[in-house]
Amino acid sequence: MLKKSKLKTPNWILEGYDSEAEYNNVKGIDKKKKVDGVFTLKLCSKCGSEKVRVVLCEDKKTKWKCEKCGWSGTQIKEKELAEEEFMKYLDDKGEVLPNEFELKKDFKKTIESSDEEDFEE
Ligand SMILES: [Zn+2]
Repeated sequence: MLKKSKLKTPNWILEGYDSEAEYNNVKGIDKKKKVDGVFTLKLCSKCGSEKVRVVLCEDKKTKWKCEKCGWSGTQIKEKELAEEEFMKYLDDKGEVLPNEFELKKDFKKTIESSDEEDFEE
């Protein structure tokens, strides 16, 4: 009887990625805890638009729907941005920022979950 070999070549090597982390990133496998200061952008896997929103299915699975091209599915594309890149991304989009400082503070708060509220001048 033939049993499966104990040592199996990991998929990331088989598929030619440089590292397991890169493979996981591309495949959307969330093995590790998210890195601090990184904002994850969800992108439509068909047209790459960020105009995607979550829709809940009857089986309670998370599904995504693109408002631009109408694509829907569970395989969402993710792009990770550092804080700086994220700010630039908002800039490029021409988003009107109410107050950059406030936004940054808010963003930091979100990713650090810190309770530094006493920030008075
Ligand atoms: Zn789309």
